[in-house]
Amino acid sequence: MIEPTLVAGIQPGGQLTITTDVENYPGFADPVMGPWLMEQMQKQAENVGTKLVYDTIVKADLSQRPFRLEADSGTVFTADTLVIATGAQARWLGLPSEQDYMGAGVSACATCDGFFYRNREVVVVGGGNTAVEEALYLANLASKVTLVHRRDSLRAEKILQDRLFRNPKIEVVWDHQVDEILGGGEPKGVTGVRLKNTGNGELREISTDGVFIAIGHAPSVELFKDQLTLKPNGYLETAPDSTKTSIPGVFAAGDVTDDIYRQAVTAAGMGCMAALEAEKFLAEHETASTRQAAE
Ligand code: NAP
Repeated sequence: MIEPTLVAGIQPGGQLTITTDVENYPGFADPVMGPWLMEQMQKQAENVGTKLVYDTIVKADLSQRPFRLEADSGTVFTADTLVIATGAQARWLGLPSEQDYMGAGVSACATCDGFFYRNREVVVVGGGNTAVEEALYLANLASKVTLVHRRDSLRAEKILQDRLFRNPKIEVVWDHQVDEILGGGEPKGVTGVRLKNTGNGELREISTDGVFIAIGHAPSVELFKDQLTLKPNGYLETAPDSTKTSIPGVFAAGDVTDDIYRQAVTAAGMGCMAALEAEKFLAEHETASTRQAAE
């Protein structure tokens, strides 16, 4: 029987642990909470023999077999096969003021920090599912939510857009980028944002107590980017209809490789594919080494 070790990393359960309602995971008639779903997945994995380790891999050497993975605690793991499911993390605008006010009014997680904005005003930046979900979540707490998007249409799913447009607490500012996050005071905090019209370049300021950046995610490939082939957009490359990476025995599943669907259900499906392919790889190599030993 295969007894895999799952090294949980710095955010065990990943992005779903900072998601509220999950409405599109099959098997549940009603929405379920992201953290609850991940708890169930963990228990299920443990029930079928997975050993869970709360540690973070800081170094990976895929040039030798077994593969060698060094953890933050100093523990060294060796593995005959490896499934990379390191996911993706929030992208930032890259403004110095965003850095300045990080944790002092700037956040990338409404479910983590929304609580601080009860009856206050917030700005959400972005036009995808994440931005719309964050805006809807924050509208339950804040007195006003302004969604700032750089174009004149959203890329979020239609059902989410409908909900957004129906919400009287949410205003959408189209065709604007955040030019600067404004703030001050002691202790320092956000007081507003300066917006730039993407058409004519005109600047305007709006006051706000908090800014939530929701402009997408970048795959977490740091550990492997010099060892495995990447797609031009930085995601791990896998063979067509497979989770095989450029090194035999190394598989990739979920948001670290998926630049198209990026859903919990597609990630879970890819995890299943990776497990089956890893099992097949082990079986084939066991047969080969058994044959070699017998010769
Ligand atoms: P996304 O779909 O890539 O959307 C990112 C948004 O941010 C886009 O509207 C983009 O504008 C904007 N943006 C990117 N860089 C920007 C910048 N520098 N300045 C201003 N705006 C910027 O990312 P996401 O919303 O995080 O979603 C990622 C994936 O997860 C998607 O596939 C989504 O379907 C999935 N997801 C699903 C659910 C769900 O099913 N419940 C929930 C959350 C996420 P443009 O539109 O102009 O490019």
